[in-house]
Amino acid sequence: MTVVGEGGVDQQRWVLHIDMDAFYASVEVKEQPVLRGRPVVVGGTGPRGVVASASYEARVFGVRSAMPTGQARRLCPELVLLPPRFSLYHRYSEQLHGVLNCFTPLVEGVALDEAFLDVSGCGALFGPPAEIAVQLHRRVGDELGLACSIGAGPNKLVAKLASKAAKPKVGARGPRLGPATLIVDAPDVLGFIWPVPVEALWGVGPASTERLRRLGATTVGELAALPEGALVTALGKAAGRLLHALSWGRDTRPVTTDRAPKSIGHEETYPTDIAERGELHRRLVVMADSVAGSVRDQGMVARTVTLKLRYSDFATITRSHTFASPQTTGPSFWTAAAAMLEELDLRNGVRLLGVSASGLLPTESSPGEQLQLALDAMPPAERREAEGAAGDAGPPAAPGANGAPGGTMSRQRPDGEPGSGQAAWERASEAMDAVRARFGEAAVRPATTVEPRPVARPLR
Ligand SMILES: [Mg+2]
Repeated sequence: MTVVGEGGVDQQRWVLHIDMDAFYASVEVKEQPVLRGRPVVVGGTGPRGVVASASYEARVFGVRSAMPTGQARRLCPELVLLPPRFSLYHRYSEQLHGVLNCFTPLVEGVALDEAFLDVSGCGALFGPPAEIAVQLHRRVGDELGLACSIGAGPNKLVAKLASKAAKPKVGARGPRLGPATLIVDAPDVLGFIWPVPVEALWGVGPASTERLRRLGATTVGELAALPEGALVTALGKAAGRLLHALSWGRDTRPVTTDRAPKSIGHEETYPTDIAERGELHRRLVVMADSVAGSVRDQGMVARTVTLKLRYSDFATITRSHTFASPQTTGPSFWTAAAAMLEELDLRNGVRLLGVSASGLLPTESSPGEQLQLALDAMPPAERREAEGAAGDAGPPAAPGANGAPGGTMSRQRPDGEPGSGQAAWERASEAMDAVRARFGEAAVRPATTVEPRPVARPLR
């Protein structure tokens, strides 16, 4: 059924946006109940550290995300400043997604603590959207012990703005509970979005805000009053049209699931069998390098690399190696693959060679409102911790085969893999660029037919 409201916004879909309240800080308070009610901030503790997440008690003092922690301390002398523990936040994020997936498989993670859900088809199971939002809010509270805010509307734009409006507020006398869930029906969309400042819209940064202000639009309603042509002239065709549509509550972006592929790999069948070890080694290195790059391209890290080999008599064998910690670099993949090849008898000739990566986990998702810490601004000890944690591979998996703690990026590599952290990521990019330059984009393709993981992009 399609309900068309007075504002002309079609109610064909119901999209929910869920956003945990003060996520990192709330997780820390949950873990250390003695902190409850105190102004807590998670952020860099060094001289140039910034606030990544602030509890509402801290916000009462004017403390905000992205603020230098020194300034936060001056605003609030009793501030409790904690260094981030990303692997902990990943565990909660994984638990959150477990709850979300109970309602619909159409879940799009935007950040560790933020997701869109398309619940258009969930009415029969869970009732109307308002009921779904209330159930979801209750279950997140029960299972994670944390508060969240949920917005619902006919599209992502409205759902996102609604969850923001549902947030707790900070007044002079302290934090106040927000409504926690807010449902905006199609007929109410324009009344809801028009008072909102233009910079709340997707894609409107400081430069666009200034241009729009000069056109006389500081609110979404004022933006809607401008002719589309004026916006196209001021901002370009794509941005102008998009903003015009958004200002009228129209947003066609789908909720895209971020279900990951099970494995990524590449294999080659040779026109004539190859028995020469050096030749097979060379081909293996190229393939492993490409697969590593493809893993990176999909925003994943891999725990396991598998070598597949088919002999001239069609006998097929596979050998797998599980890393102590998830990897993405070409060298880590080809070193492991080559070591496995080394163990095999190749004298009868090989007709097929393949490399694949599995045990895939998403890399650190976009932190959204919780800004990334200025890693290079931290003292070395903190930097080590934060980098190790920042490289953490999404929701931690079960303990690794080599006994490494689940999801933790160890900086000491028992199996001699190249180091993790920023430098290794950069090396991986460079290696990948080189491979692409030599062999082209088509050198790599996913082994499975599962759709690739879309890049999560937060709304503004
Ligand atoms: Mg949040």
